[in-house]
Amino acid sequence: MKFPPTIRLFLVPILNSCKGYELSSYSWQPGSRTIFLDIRTRRNMVRLLIHEVLHVQHPKWSESKILKETSKQFMSMGWRARSVFLIEAMSRAKIGWPPKEDKKNG
Ligand SMILES: [Zn+2]
Repeated sequence: MKFPPTIRLFLVPILNSCKGYELSSYSWQPGSRTIFLDIRTRRNMVRLLIHEVLHVQHPKWSESKILKETSKQFMSMGWRARSVFLIEAMSRAKIGWPPKEDKKNG
């Protein structure tokens, strides 16, 4: 799996660890082609990003279908493919929140 060039990735501090668990390590809204990721997550970032990319690419899929496909994609990738995916994603990532006027353009 490739990280699509049309998806925007922002690295932001959205993890909520005040209750001792991760409330949210990413944020995604229907119709949006923007993914938010908090790199402090203890979860696998490649897997998280695959999950969010699938949401963007298949907005009508159910969460269970997304989860199933995430596992399938992730497990089919070796360490090298996962490395390439991560570099592709991070080379396009911006640090911080998008400018306000950007938000409605998704
Ligand atoms: Zn999901």
